[in-house]
Amino acid sequence: MSLTDPRYSVLFEPVKIGPVTAPNRFYQVPHCNGMAHARPKSLAAMRGVKAEGGWGVVSTEEVEIHPSADLNPVIEGRLWSDDDIPYHAKTVEAIHEHGSLAAIQLAYNGMAAANLFTRIPPMGPSNMSVVWDFGDPVQARAMDKDDIRNLRQWYRDAARRAQIAGYDIVYMYAGHNMVTPMHFLSRRYNDRSDEYGGSVENRARLIGELLEDIKEEVGQTCGIAFRFAVDEMRGPEGITWEEEGRAVVEMYAELPDLWDVNVADWSNDSQTARFAPQEGYQTKYTKEVKKLTTKPVVGVGRFTSADGMVSQLKNGYLDMIGAARPSIADPFLPNKIRDNRIEEIRECIGCNICVSGDNMSVPIRCTQNPTMGEEWRRGWHPEKIEKAENPDPVLVVGSGPAGMEAALQLSNRGHPVTLAEAGTELGGRVARESRLPGLASYIRVRDYREHYLLTRPDVDIYFDSKLSGDDILEFGFEHVIVATGSKWKRTGQGRDNRNVIKGLDKIKVVTPDDIMDGVEVTGRVVVYDLDYYYMASTLAEKLRAAGHEVAYVSDASTAASWTAMTLEQERVQASLVENGVSLHLNSVITEAAVDGVALENIYSEEEEKLACDTLLLVTERAPLDGIYLDLKARPDELKEAGIKTLELIGDAYAPGTIAASVYSGHKAARLFPNCQDDPDMFKWERPAVV
Ligand code: ADP
Ligand code: SF4
Repeated sequence: MSLTDPRYSVLFEPVKIGPVTAPNRFYQVPHCNGMAHARPKSLAAMRGVKAEGGWGVVSTEEVEIHPSADLNPVIEGRLWSDDDIPYHAKTVEAIHEHGSLAAIQLAYNGMAAANLFTRIPPMGPSNMSVVWDFGDPVQARAMDKDDIRNLRQWYRDAARRAQIAGYDIVYMYAGHNMVTPMHFLSRRYNDRSDEYGGSVENRARLIGELLEDIKEEVGQTCGIAFRFAVDEMRGPEGITWEEEGRAVVEMYAELPDLWDVNVADWSNDSQTARFAPQEGYQTKYTKEVKKLTTKPVVGVGRFTSADGMVSQLKNGYLDMIGAARPSIADPFLPNKIRDNRIEEIRECIGCNICVSGDNMSVPIRCTQNPTMGEEWRRGWHPEKIEKAENPDPVLVVGSGPAGMEAALQLSNRGHPVTLAEAGTELGGRVARESRLPGLASYIRVRDYREHYLLTRPDVDIYFDSKLSGDDILEFGFEHVIVATGSKWKRTGQGRDNRNVIKGLDKIKVVTPDDIMDGVEVTGRVVVYDLDYYYMASTLAEKLRAAGHEVAYVSDASTAASWTAMTLEQERVQASLVENGVSLHLNSVITEAAVDGVALENIYSEEEEKLACDTLLLVTERAPLDGIYLDLKARPDELKEAGIKTLELIGDAYAPGTIAASVYSGHKAARLFPNCQDDPDMFKWERPAVV
């Protein structure tokens, strides 16, 4: 008997995509992962877990089809020759093992690739600089008719190879401002005067040709998906729904077997919760596409609510629920809905830490799902953990993301757990930070874990329990894990500034902890950001909204510079400017005085005086490792108290991201009782020598 709530059964209907049929409406759209061609075993294991979790379609990342468009150092898929087929076959096999369809996203990046590896000059519709994040001084040459003929052949070759590898769905990709078919369509990149330039019909010609070519080549056995950027959200300068988006959908409405609706660029498609808090933020476009085609339409929008998904279908906005991030945070989301375990869904918090992995060419990681990227190299599974041979009781001190995750996973392994928390709620930093503007969804890190911890009979939680070393010695637990977190420094030290800022005793100094504790801020505020992530800009906006005059100072040349990795930086800086926060970049604070701070420009050494009443230091954090160090220094007493293992995890071990804390807690539970790394437990993929 099916457990599925009848309200959600529509999500489990099969969907025909050309000659193939998806078993349900859950569609993992293509997403990058920093593994791809460089780490094919890791990749296959990760995609396999998605299929196991119930995603009816599991797609690859973008896959380069020819060496003349090479994305190095970014690691994407590769299908340059027949030699690349076996590693794709491995991914397909892992997906098919669970009855899902495997989709491949063929990509020719043209003028969005600098070809740093192959050293072939890139090509595109026109003779123009490459449009690529690293800003290499490289230009693309304009493609002539031979180049276009060759390109069409390369797509055919790649489609055939994809078919041999076993893929069920082959994508033509014209999204994210990343690929040649989209560049041809774009008014700002296409200055051609031949039949591929000028009118929308001409600029869209290549798209139609490629769709037809791929269909002719493999359409008998493979569904043909078209991922298309219907709007770039940059007004008339970019592709707009009114000018090109609608026209292309109308022109080729029935040509592909499925429309994957995209909004370019990547920062618009993968908006963080800070800037797009609601699910389904692309519905405006998908519902228009739905009106123009009879073919299934898939779209994304950080969908994690089953009711929200059903309403997308019922309202006729979508046919399949597209997801990258929700499938990363919870590869088992579909199965949990199917099996009526909705409260067990690990909801994506919309932080884009997953995206940062791809941007830095390292394997994907996720704040909510610490097993993401670890499926092969550590053998971690998002829903399974080995039972402990000796399930001894464990005391976990501190209930932030590290302590909660350790407690939950130790409980999953069969250990009775006592969780002691100094405060009155679970969640540590996520509980506090989620009260800041734009970060409300961060509470999901707590909520997912709290759901289990509060109901487990073998988990005891004690609030208002700020433990000392002596308390711990008295309790007599054999195993103690300290997860007491960190606090922001009050000295101004951070990054290259290793000295305590002079004169801090003369001015009111606050830290993010103070603001989150409700300490009153007076008058004009200077926010000093050496952290580069979200905290300083978030607090600057909060204080500005409360009516303070706010100046933002950082030695970086952009505001919240690391948020470029999470695709947020431009929005952060624009938002600061719009909200009237004055920016003082490339500057360090050299001294504080009663009425303000002295700045020095790091390039010109020019000095500037900024009047202020409160200085908010967002520079770096100090681990709160006091009780651990205290106990560690008392080995005889530890022994006498019967404490066999004492471990330090999370921010108390080394302050980092929330993702790092969750990971640290998870790793501690997996490796327990030795919570730190054993090198033998970590595999990595080596290049083949023969
Ligand atoms: P992490 O990111 O490593 O999980 P957090 O700062 O989010 O760290 O959480 C640390 C938690 O530990 C906070 O909820 C804090 O109240 C709690 N804590 C800190 N010191 C103690 C202590 N001595 N006893 C019990 N709980 C503590
Ligand atoms: Fe969602 Fe953040 Fe995980 Fe990405 S890293 S899937 S945005 S929770």
